[in-house]
Amino acid sequence: QCPWGVPNTTSVSCSLADVMSEQLAKELELEEENAAFPEVVAVAEGPFITGENVDTSSDLMLAQMLQMEFDREYDAQLRREEKKINGDSKVSISFENYRKVHPYDSDSSEDEVDWQDTRHDPYRADKPTTTPRKGFIGKGKDITTKHDEVVCGRKNTARMENFAPEFQVGDGIGMDLKLSNQVFNALKQHAYSEERRSARLHEKKEHSTAEKAVDPKTRLLMYKMVNSGMLETITGCISTGKESVVFHAYGGKSATEDKVIPPECAIKVFKTTLNEFKNRDKYIKDDYRFKDRFSKLNPRKIIRMWAEKEMHNLTRMQNAGIPCPQVVILKKHVLVMSFIGQDQVPAPKLKDVTLSSEDMKKAYYQVLNMMQQLYKECNLVHADLSEYNMLWHDGKVWLIDVSQSVEPTHPHGLEFLFRDCRNVSQFFQKGGVAEALNERELFNAVSGFNITADNEVDFQAEV
Ligand code: ADP
Ligand code: MN
Repeated sequence: QCPWGVPNTTSVSCSLADVMSEQLAKELELEEENAAFPEVVAVAEGPFITGENVDTSSDLMLAQMLQMEFDREYDAQLRREEKKINGDSKVSISFENYRKVHPYDSDSSEDEVDWQDTRHDPYRADKPTTTPRKGFIGKGKDITTKHDEVVCGRKNTARMENFAPEFQVGDGIGMDLKLSNQVFNALKQHAYSEERRSARLHEKKEHSTAEKAVDPKTRLLMYKMVNSGMLETITGCISTGKESVVFHAYGGKSATEDKVIPPECAIKVFKTTLNEFKNRDKYIKDDYRFKDRFSKLNPRKIIRMWAEKEMHNLTRMQNAGIPCPQVVILKKHVLVMSFIGQDQVPAPKLKDVTLSSEDMKKAYYQVLNMMQQLYKECNLVHADLSEYNMLWHDGKVWLIDVSQSVEPTHPHGLEFLFRDCRNVSQFFQKGGVAEALNERELFNAVSGFNITADNEVDFQAEV
């Protein structure tokens, strides 16, 4: 008998297959690795644009998003180094010039007011970062000149980022690729001729896709809102119109305590397609509120003014208690407001909803009331009022789409009002509301004028 007692014969049976199993080997290896290098850096899972809206095919955008993250870390590191070097010294050295100045990672406070700032054009391409004028970095024997082969090679690799987005450059930075000047110049030549070729080829195609989706810069702007936590997630597109694209998003947390972000938001992106604004400039050109700014502006800024106008008009309406989306934030040509609807389903437009005759009557009186309030209290004419821009939600009518609204003193203000009245009166008369005023009566009721002409031509002439 064995002096150490009976051995416990619960030996783990191990088949040859197990021993040979590659998968098992990998798992074991991974386990070992994990034990040796416990994960110190927990990568926070960043919120991301989700839903149908996600477009991972855009390398440029993904790259820019990553760049944004990288730049932030880089700058933070730089700040730490700056602090370390300066210490308590009275004379300090600034590393400002070495900071990654990324156009979309600028201070958000700057962003918040920059719709007012018409001097600075945020759309201007940013200058490529170069070696500082003096031509070298560091000091003593650590000096590195701009001709340094390694630095130069890396910089060339980084400069490939400036090639057209269609030009696949691969992850040269990730693998620390160093391109000699000769190679870089050859690539650059090739990239340019490719770009010209593809521009010719895709001129048409580009145009049509730009109609549907938003451009990368706008996506980046929206991503930034998600990244900052202001929006939880952007779920998808609700509407693509001629002048705007509207998205649904779940609200997140506000950076400031006093502001509450609605649980569901609508993001209205004003289209930056340059040919659209021409049709509408008569609204804004003659609006004295924008008068002295109009002539000096480029088309992009005019589009931002549309967004700005919608924001101001919505605020006025909100103050008067008219049911309408509540403004959350405006960034450039992207306006975030509260969502009218529930669980991602937007409230139906009046034209799409079948109301009982009772509700229809209720809706009519509400619209009449709102038009009067809009005119008298907000000093505004909607200027695009119709069953397309009224939503039925929560048993009442909500007004939307007020970027083109003007004050009654606008040279065409009353004309617009008359058109609004015609739309409203026709809609409700067709909808069987016997009490509905005709367009002329409605016009008088809203404006307080007393135009007595009994036919449309004379009436319009007087208007
Ligand atoms: P456009 O100028 O393109 O007509 P709108 O402001 O009318 O822009 O928005 C287009 C569509 O998007 C609307 O018809 C409506 O269905 C939807 N929408 C816009 N804003 C909201 C909102 N705040 N809540 C819910 N749906 C909205
Ligand atoms: Mn509309």
